[in-house]
Amino acid sequence: MSQTTSQPNVLASGSAGAVPQILIVDDEQHMCDVCARTLRRSGYIVATTNDPHMALDILTTGPQFDLLLTDIKMPTMSGLDLARIARDRDPTIAIIIMTGFTSFENMQQSVQRGVADFLSKPFELEQLRMAVEQALQKRLLLQDNLRLRTLEHLLASSEALSTTLELTELANILLRETLRQSGCRAGFVLVGESYAPLHIIALSQPQGRLLDAGLALAQRAFELQDQLTGAGARFGEFDGRDLSSAFAVALRAQGVANGVLLLCDDRPTMLRPGVQEEIALIANHASAAFRNATLYGQIDEAYQRLKELDRLKSEFISIASHELRTPLSIVLGYTMMLREQSSGQQHDYAQRVMDGGQRIKEIVDDMVSLRHLETGQTRLSAARCLAQDLVTQTTERLRAAIEERQHRLTVQVPDEPLVIVCDHKKVLLVLGHLVSNAIKFTPSGGQLTIRVSGQTSIPLPSQSDKTITHLATTLWDDIALWVVFEVQDTGIGIAEREQARIFDRFYQVADSLTRDHGGTGLGLAIVRELVAALGGAVWMTSQSGVGSTFAFALPQHLE
Ligand code: ADP
Repeated sequence: MSQTTSQPNVLASGSAGAVPQILIVDDEQHMCDVCARTLRRSGYIVATTNDPHMALDILTTGPQFDLLLTDIKMPTMSGLDLARIARDRDPTIAIIIMTGFTSFENMQQSVQRGVADFLSKPFELEQLRMAVEQALQKRLLLQDNLRLRTLEHLLASSEALSTTLELTELANILLRETLRQSGCRAGFVLVGESYAPLHIIALSQPQGRLLDAGLALAQRAFELQDQLTGAGARFGEFDGRDLSSAFAVALRAQGVANGVLLLCDDRPTMLRPGVQEEIALIANHASAAFRNATLYGQIDEAYQRLKELDRLKSEFISIASHELRTPLSIVLGYTMMLREQSSGQQHDYAQRVMDGGQRIKEIVDDMVSLRHLETGQTRLSAARCLAQDLVTQTTERLRAAIEERQHRLTVQVPDEPLVIVCDHKKVLLVLGHLVSNAIKFTPSGGQLTIRVSGQTSIPLPSQSDKTITHLATTLWDDIALWVVFEVQDTGIGIAEREQARIFDRFYQVADSLTRDHGGTGLGLAIVRELVAALGGAVWMTSQSGVGSTFAFALPQHLE
């Protein structure tokens, strides 16, 4: 048997600018030679064979060609069979059939196999050149089309993969999408971590079974963090059939492998050109989704743990504060009695015990009132009072502390009485917390300013990024006048990064080891809840080392 196969240099088939490669198959050597010479002269890379079986080998496992020019009638095989095989591997390959006579049946089968043109023997060489040129043009169009379809598929797969953050669901979507693209019989998604062996979390069908060779290929792809193809071993089973071709691609996100996608099939050329890249792209996208799902799972777990801790903390506060209240009132009651009945040093000692007990009572009261506010058990009363009086009561109560730290106090209130209808005890609590903080967090000899004004709208500061507001959900349009209280200090201030959390329960800027000031970190949380319950808004501005202004606005509610 005479044959000439001039194996072309390996070229990226179909890539832009690459010289097209043509395979000519004809049992007549003369025909091969003439066609090859003509086409080479036109600048193509040409390989020829007069053995259809060799052509079959080349088309299934050899380098890829852009065009197949084949005789239809050969002794051992039909050119139409070669056309089918070539198309199976590359659906865009250009095919031209050469034939001595064209039957209707041949024509019909040729169309079904995507044959681009017929050349009736004998044909002019110019005819051959033109047919080849047109067929290659058509191939380029088909390739563009295929690329577009691939992009559409990728987009659809990508959308599908973004629909969930659940790991098994993601794995099933990945399998569904890649099996659809590849047409492979079975697929498996395995997950693992560097120190643990891979385990399957999704498989395509109950009939699919992963065998040892498949697992080994997957494990290897996982370790190498790469794509691997395998052939000639039993990688899996599907419906009792051996799957002897496999493609494993490691799922990698941020440089770390978190699983493997393994596709298995019984065809030796299981993935058409381009499909492998497409599968790898989908797998790549899935890896990121897998990582997000894992991170989301961890965050959710941590969040649930935090929620539980928070619940336990609230529970503890609730129990502790209630349990402390009764013995504390006994201690305070008897200490008061002792103080009344004693004199001199004994009297002073009793007074100090009373002061300490009183401080504990305040902390317990804070805990209880925050709990009541958060659980909606707080009852509000409403009565007319003067805003000026609320300020005076607060400054009177805290006068000793202000004097002890040698702060100067300025109070700026309107000349006219400013009436407000509210639960004045709650407002006193809010003011008390804010003024106490101003006293506490301002170094000795500072300036404290308390302002009260009536305003038609809430005067939120313009630099909203530096302002934290806690706004109640009341319909504010109906409010004719807001009574605004401001407490300004020249104290240590609050760094910008801390400001967002300042109203959280137990939050304190300095931690318990470095803190110079006493306190529980509950004051501002109570302020926020109280102001919200009163239908108002609270906000703050502060600059580290310069000072802070805490302010709140309450609706006047005169009617
Ligand atoms: P506490 O005063 O019991 O620590 P708060 O909830 O009242 O708790 O305040 C929380 C934190 O906010 C304080 O620990 C302090 O770090 C900061 N803070 C509150 N008011 C001021 C202020 N006027 N100046 C500076 N920092 C303040």
